[in-house]
Amino acid sequence: MDTSFKGTFISTLKQAQVLDKEIYDLSAMVENIPKELNALNEDFRIRKATLESLTQELRALQLKHKELDNDLKAREANVTKLDAQLSQVKTNKEYAALQQEIRALKADISLVEEKIILLFDEIDAQQAKVNLEKERLNQEEAVLTRKKKEIEEQKAKSLERIKDLTTQRADILKQVDREIVNRYESIVKHKDGLALSPLQDENCGVCQMTIRPQVQNEVRLAGRLVFCESCGRILYADNA
Ligand SMILES: [Zn+2]
Repeated sequence: MDTSFKGTFISTLKQAQVLDKEIYDLSAMVENIPKELNALNEDFRIRKATLESLTQELRALQLKHKELDNDLKAREANVTKLDAQLSQVKTNKEYAALQQEIRALKADISLVEEKIILLFDEIDAQQAKVNLEKERLNQEEAVLTRKKKEIEEQKAKSLERIKDLTTQRADILKQVDREIVNRYESIVKHKDGLALSPLQDENCGVCQMTIRPQVQNEVRLAGRLVFCESCGRILYADNA
């Protein structure tokens, strides 16, 4: 490729570079938005799963309570039934056996009642956990909705800005030879939006590689495109 020419292409490319860097950074930000949204949604999903598992634990405790309650009622019914039988037994031995049975049942009933009381405490504590988590989730949902809205607004603004910058850069680059523009654009694309590098003392201002004296001279003459042999960017002298 013949890159010899005369003119002030470097100062024009420098103007374009400012715009292209901004376009590159904004585009990278816009491209990253789906990932950002996924991460936010995933955080929220995990939070939601936490609430669901706490709620399930609560339901299990409530079910256990219902079972104990049924058990209690059955034993109480049994006591009532046996109490009624007491008046009908014929022998002292039968009477004593029945009384023994009733005492045992009543002791069991006391144990079940104790379990129920302990379970009530557990249910209360679990219900408090569920309520707290629900409150947190509601707050996080509000934050999530707000963040998503901000991101969408930011995206719209960025796309609008990219459109403006793209028009501006096209106008600027009209002044430069097409072949140079192609070369410049290819570097912008492959080098993180930065195609130009200033010569700083003897080094490439971007990658810091030392530039050979002859190449330095060519950069200062600015008669043609000169590339950094290390990072491939277009070198320019700060007076260009
Ligand atoms: Zn370099």
